[in-house]
Amino acid sequence: MKTTQEPIEKIVIVGGGTAGWIAAATISNIFKNTDLTIELVESDDIGIIGVGEATIPPLISILNSLGIDLIDFIKETQASFKLGIQFEDWHTIGEKYFHPFGTVGKSIDGYDFFQCWLKSKAEGDKTPLMAHSPESVLAEKGKFFLPFAAKNTPLERAFYALHLDSGLAGKYLRNYAEKLGVIRTEGKVEQVIQTKNGEIESVILASGQSISGDFFIDCSGFRGLLIEQTLQSGYESWDKYLPCNRAVTVQTNNVGDTNPYTVSAAKEAGWMWRIPLQHRTGNGYVFCDKYITDEQAINTLLANIKGEPITSPRVIPFTTGLRNKPWNKNCLSLGLAQGFIEPLESTAIHLVSKTIAYFIRMFPTKQRDEVLINEYNRRVRVDYEEIRDFLVLHYCTTQREDTEFWRWCKNMKIPATLQKKLDFFKASGGLIPGAEELFQPTSWYAVFNGMKVEPDHYNPTMDTWDYQKLKAILDKGKQGLIDIADKQPSHDEFLKQYCAA
Ligand code: FAD
Repeated sequence: MKTTQEPIEKIVIVGGGTAGWIAAATISNIFKNTDLTIELVESDDIGIIGVGEATIPPLISILNSLGIDLIDFIKETQASFKLGIQFEDWHTIGEKYFHPFGTVGKSIDGYDFFQCWLKSKAEGDKTPLMAHSPESVLAEKGKFFLPFAAKNTPLERAFYALHLDSGLAGKYLRNYAEKLGVIRTEGKVEQVIQTKNGEIESVILASGQSISGDFFIDCSGFRGLLIEQTLQSGYESWDKYLPCNRAVTVQTNNVGDTNPYTVSAAKEAGWMWRIPLQHRTGNGYVFCDKYITDEQAINTLLANIKGEPITSPRVIPFTTGLRNKPWNKNCLSLGLAQGFIEPLESTAIHLVSKTIAYFIRMFPTKQRDEVLINEYNRRVRVDYEEIRDFLVLHYCTTQREDTEFWRWCKNMKIPATLQKKLDFFKASGGLIPGAEELFQPTSWYAVFNGMKVEPDHYNPTMDTWDYQKLKAILDKGKQGLIDIADKQPSHDEFLKQYCAA
């Protein structure tokens, strides 16, 4: 095939937070045997946001695809394992539920497991859904073992992710990318030069140095230095669906066992996270400033942490939403410069990798084709909206009425796309099938179940089963999980034995 298109020779990445270094590592790994030059500019004075410590399972595949040794990465980033999220006080005060990674149960003779469980429940079985989730059973016992090392046992279908120190993860990725030839330039971008048709030509640093490129990736965080301040790509706020707009964070020393899961505890005007790492614990209170002040949020956070604070409380404002054009002209935005849907399901770092993967699939030439840009922007929006709806589900199904914030959530107007999913679930006990979705049906079932949203009935085909036979299979599966989980080391023992630096 002959082409008149010229390949991109130089990419400039502005920003060296998690987004910037994931972009640099991914692109340099793919183009390692080519002449493509990648230069990353970051300002030590501005620094990184320094939060973003809980991840989801695709991170493990990303590390694999970069050829990064998992245990080495865990040691260097002081990471611990995460099997899911424990939600406390979301439905009503005193209620909790677990959202595990991976599937809950296995299909039985081709019948969807959730339908089997619904049928059994309708017959009077009181076994909780999560008794069939390997992650949930391990998490409840504070145990951990790498699923791929538990071949031919029910644990092999478990999924896990990491809690990591974002500063150390950035350093690790920087080291990786620099070894592949990425040039790092320290300095503050003070001016952005555009061509006469509005494309970005170069950035000028405070030192006067000019850095030009064919293509720019804006990873400058919430400020969106190129994508917004220069190209004015617009931002759609989702505060009418997700009202939290600030977080206060504090790090503490570790006390007690290292939970293999994130805790998300609902509070009077939002929710609080606890993320245990090997060397410390990250804590934060995500809240809405319409209902409480920063001072009240700080006091609530400090009153609810375990251990002694090792940093001062820091308040971070944010607006939940998405850039109207995440890719505009010769500029792609990633990370917080692209959008932010609040950290409830730890999806931001994943979205960086996922949206870079789309960019690689639609990688431009110097001539850039609007078809690719439009498709990229459409695809990114689909992902963000899917995650937004999933997060809204956590809030809108609350039965809490004890504060103004929760009354608002209980009565909020939800996105039409979510209403459709809820209606379908109630009518069928299933989900409308979608393509390439991040949160698979079992994640939705976990939240529906945890928030006590019940379908009107199970699928009528379940009545073709001899119930006693079905019950015996379910009981055997449940007991099998308990037996194998009991044999595993505690999460702390596992970390000490295999992952201590
Ligand atoms: P930043 O870390 O802000 O990096 C911006 C970079 O741009 C820095 O290097 C800065 O120096 C540089 N820069 C800016 N301006 C200039 C300039 N003029 N010149 C030169 N350089 C410049 N994500 C998760 O996946 N899991 C979580 O649990 C999670 N929790 C979060 C909690 C909160 C409260 C918030 C706000 C976010 C959370 N996130 C989480 C999101 C996550 O923190 C970010 O997605 C991730 O850290 C990537 O940030 P970034 O690289 O886009 O921005």
